[in-house]
Amino acid sequence: MLDSHCHLDDPRVTDLAAVEARRLEAGVRVLVPGVHPSTWAALRAQAPARGWMFAIGTHPEQLDRVGAPVPDDLYGAVAVGECGLHRPSPVPMARQAQVLVAHLEVAHAARLPVILHCVRAHDVLPALLRSLGRPVSGVIHSYSGGAELVPIYEALGLHLSFGGAVTWPGARRPVEALRRVSPHRLLLESDGPDQRPRFTDEDPAWGPRSEPSMLPNLCRAVEALRGGPVAAQVERNALELGW
Ligand SMILES: [Zn+2]
Repeated sequence: MLDSHCHLDDPRVTDLAAVEARRLEAGVRVLVPGVHPSTWAALRAQAPARGWMFAIGTHPEQLDRVGAPVPDDLYGAVAVGECGLHRPSPVPMARQAQVLVAHLEVAHAARLPVILHCVRAHDVLPALLRSLGRPVSGVIHSYSGGAELVPIYEALGLHLSFGGAVTWPGARRPVEALRRVSPHRLLLESDGPDQRPRFTDEDPAWGPRSEPSMLPNLCRAVEALRGGPVAAQVERNALELGW
C-alpha cells in the first residue's frame, strides 16, 4: 500500500526510526515530496537507503524564503513537487502561479507526474491547468476542493488524494468529494506529520501527528465512507503513475 504524501524528512519527525519500523511492519510504501531547495539534497541522499520514493519541488508556503524555487535536477525523483497554490500567503497569487507553471513545465519535459498542493485556491487552479492546453499527470494531494470540481480535475488528467481529514468529525465537504472521485483516480496519504486521522471518538492515539503506518486503517475508513473496496484499485492507480 502506498502513502502518496508524507514528509518523513520533516524536522518534526524526531523519532524517525520508530516511525519507519511501524511503517515497514504495516507494509506501507511512501512517496516523500520535497518542499524547499534546502531539503532536496538530503532527501535525495537518504531516500534510496530508506526505500523511499521522493519528489523534488517547492511548497507554496515556502516561496517567500526561496531564491530559485524550481528544480533543475530531477535525478532519482518519481515526481515534481510539492508545488501549488496556498491562501492566505504573503506571496502574491500571480507569483505563486508563475512558480507553479514553471514546475508543471519541468514535469512535462521530464515526463514525470506532479504533486499539487491547493488550499483555498480552487478558484484559480482549474483555469491555470486548463491554460496549459494539455492533460496534467499527477495528483492533487489532500484534496480540499468541492465535490463539484472533482470531475473537472479528473478531466484535466489528475488523480485526487485523501488523508485523515475525511475521518474528522463533521468532515462533510471532504467526504462528499471523496465519494465523487472515480475509482481509477483515487489515492490515499497520511500527509504525515500533519492531518492525523481520527478513527473513533475514543481513539486514545488522537493527537496532532500522522504517520504512514496509519494507511491501512485510513484505507478501511475510506472504504466505509465510499461503501466498497478501494485498496487494490488505489495500488493500481499508484502504479500507473509510476509510484
Ligand atoms: Zn505536503
